[in-house]
Amino acid sequence: MFGQNQVLIGLSQIKDGLKCKRQRKCKFEWLGGVYVEVNPSYSSQKCLFCGSIDEKNRDKKKQSKFCCIRCGYTENADIKAAKNILAAGRAMLACARGCISNL
Ligand SMILES: [Zn+2]
Repeated sequence: MFGQNQVLIGLSQIKDGLKCKRQRKCKFEWLGGVYVEVNPSYSSQKCLFCGSIDEKNRDKKKQSKFCCIRCGYTENADIKAAKNILAAGRAMLACARGCISNL
């Protein structure tokens, strides 16, 4: 049902307005992808390893650095936030697949 060209994109990446968002959605689906909108809230503060959400996880001086105050997991903050958005999108797709298979 879902191809390899799944495209997951966060709301934070959609800053060009509704027209552009609609065009991206159409293009992704035309290419065989699946367009999923993900709420990016706390994606920059959430730890990928332990799930802890805390604003202190972001280094005040070096905003590019993420360091979990609970488990010590560290990574580039932007890359980690993107991974959180990807995980949220995959979770939404998994839920959709589960719901469809249960019909
Ligand atoms: Zn952690």
